[in-house]
Amino acid sequence: MTATMMTATSGKTTCPYCGVGCGVNLTLPYSANEAVPPVSGDLEHPANFGRLCVKGSSLAQTIQSDDRLLTPMVGGHPVAWESAIKTVSAKIAQVVKDHGPDAFAFYLSGQILTEDYYVANKLAKGFIGTANVDTNSRLCMASAVVGYKRAFGSDTVPCNYEDLELCDLLIMVGSNAAWTHPILYQRIAAAKKQRPNMKVVVIDPRETATCDISDLHLAIKPGSDAAIFSFLLSDSVQAGILDQGFVTNHTNGFKAALAQANESTPSLSLTADFCGVSEQDLASLVDWWRDTAKTITFYSQGVNQSSSGVDKCNAIINCHLATGRIGKEGAGPFSITGQPNAMGGREVGGLANQLAAHMDFATPGAQDLVQRFWQAPNMATKDGLKAVDLFQAMEEGKVKVVWIMSTNPMVSLPDTAQVRRALEKCELVIVSDCKAHTDTTVMADVLFPATGWSEKDGTVTNSERRISRQRGLLPAPGEAKHDWWAICEVAKSLGFQSAFSYQSIHEIFAEHAALSAFENNGRRDFDIGHFSQISKAEYDALIPVQWPVPEGRPEGTKRMFEDGRFFTPDGRARFIGITPSFPKSRASQEWPFTLNTGRVRDQWHTMTRTGDAASLAKHTAQPYVEIHPKDAKRLAIKDKALVRLTSPYGEALLKAKVSRAVALGNVFAPIHWTQQFANASVVSNLIPQVVDPLSGQPESKHAQVRLEAVGGI
Ligand code: SF4
Repeated sequence: MTATMMTATSGKTTCPYCGVGCGVNLTLPYSANEAVPPVSGDLEHPANFGRLCVKGSSLAQTIQSDDRLLTPMVGGHPVAWESAIKTVSAKIAQVVKDHGPDAFAFYLSGQILTEDYYVANKLAKGFIGTANVDTNSRLCMASAVVGYKRAFGSDTVPCNYEDLELCDLLIMVGSNAAWTHPILYQRIAAAKKQRPNMKVVVIDPRETATCDISDLHLAIKPGSDAAIFSFLLSDSVQAGILDQGFVTNHTNGFKAALAQANESTPSLSLTADFCGVSEQDLASLVDWWRDTAKTITFYSQGVNQSSSGVDKCNAIINCHLATGRIGKEGAGPFSITGQPNAMGGREVGGLANQLAAHMDFATPGAQDLVQRFWQAPNMATKDGLKAVDLFQAMEEGKVKVVWIMSTNPMVSLPDTAQVRRALEKCELVIVSDCKAHTDTTVMADVLFPATGWSEKDGTVTNSERRISRQRGLLPAPGEAKHDWWAICEVAKSLGFQSAFSYQSIHEIFAEHAALSAFENNGRRDFDIGHFSQISKAEYDALIPVQWPVPEGRPEGTKRMFEDGRFFTPDGRARFIGITPSFPKSRASQEWPFTLNTGRVRDQWHTMTRTGDAASLAKHTAQPYVEIHPKDAKRLAIKDKALVRLTSPYGEALLKAKVSRAVALGNVFAPIHWTQQFANASVVSNLIPQVVDPLSGQPESKHAQVRLEAVGGI
């Protein structure tokens, strides 16, 4: 056991993987030979009550990596932090002077902590003067954010995890929760076992592990989800289950949205035909929807990663508003985030179209308020570039310095050939990471060694608005530093001394909390003002709590909209008229297959951490493409044979997995494998840079491809 390990402290922290945000006990020091596992589920954490999935249980295997980045690097050479900071700040100052503030950009990640996000956002939007602060969370939940904002006037998740156990009908759309949010799935499965009358419906083009607990699986045509909810809206009126009182007193826009739904999906048979499902199956869902007041619609990437993802979210929300199934126990539209802190980033303005503390540039008076609070000298005045636009602007030479933090866009963004061209063109690429070698760190001019999980200290927010502490229980190895520290050092080197002179991370959290309530009495959407005077000891002892947490209400807020008041100017929710549409990238004669992408059970993102845990490779050892048996036979593709997938953007070589889980004409491939782990198998090579025009979220679930047998087993 190393001396480093001996100085560590046991304690409670939060899992760094998915948006469930499970509480974890880390018992230190440990060694591989310990009889007691060093990682266990926190019995007191309300997300998991002691459970952990296989990824969470394997966290100890990922703590000590042979590939840690241990010292700052400039031009491939190790340097002192001071020198690296000077190199970075000098270049930022020069490009801002010569080309304006929009020549700089941050590209952040749902893996970093809320406090890291807060100072990055403050530096860029208040002090450098650009809103070019975007994040890989754009790839997973941006459409859900815009859907909530259009309907509620704010990015507010109405429900909580307990509602999933209390509902009588759970409609899971575009989610393989059994693999992607395993602890939520386990909670749902346990609830269903206890209450056999509880119905679960899965709407997904693929038959996934989540279907194991479903009473009905609607294997829809890819991207046709909105039609189902458009029809449910019309049918709710026909069936007499409209909550007229709620619609009249708490909403606007119902008649127009209903008219559009009636026109788009005039009958059950036409809707079933549009979606490619049987009338009988659709009728079952319709019957259950009619009969079940306590209904949750649970949705994730399959809805969001679409060129019409925002409309799909609003089609779902419309149905809940029409029937008054919101703000009540076991009822509501519930978007589940992919990443551990996608929600925390949203809270502080970590998206290019946000300002701070749930305020946008378009929020009246918000820009002035934030500028005064920060005493900011160079306030950004307009939205910045969203992820895909940002990398396009980089290739065009408009963004000249990019600081990428804790993410691997060379694998995760669509059209990786374009991302490579963008990073090659960019004059200074700074990457903060705890790993020395990723597909993105090899593109960097400057590398900042970052602390990783169990070393980082701060807060994250899970899918049910619950703020939890990630605790720094292990000391940082080598020269690794916290991301917030590196940002503040660069800010100070740029001349912004006083605004970034934090002595401790709890001061950042307190400032963030104070901004959420600053001159803002009466605003209820995102207020955690209760924490604005938090002491270090209180911050260290913080127990999980759901926002809003306004002054005088330390217990937080379990469920939103119970009073039927929303965050629009008149307090009413908005119906949004929807016309269902298919994905932009559809199969054609030249590209006869539709590629769907997703995740496997035991890997996380681009495997930079889960790839270190040998036991996690046992579940799915290699990248693959799922192909229907009839398609495989027609193309002479044998199970386990190598297949070349080609799209208009690139190609990937994957092993065939012949399976009836996918429909004819569709294929599925997981996204995790990188050049590092399986050369030539990067699935994002194939994905177009098509985005939802409202959210900027890429349509990563839909690409046109053709297949060709390469041979070999
Ligand atoms: Fe971690 Fe998600 Fe598994 Fe919970 S469900 S242990 S948060 S990966």
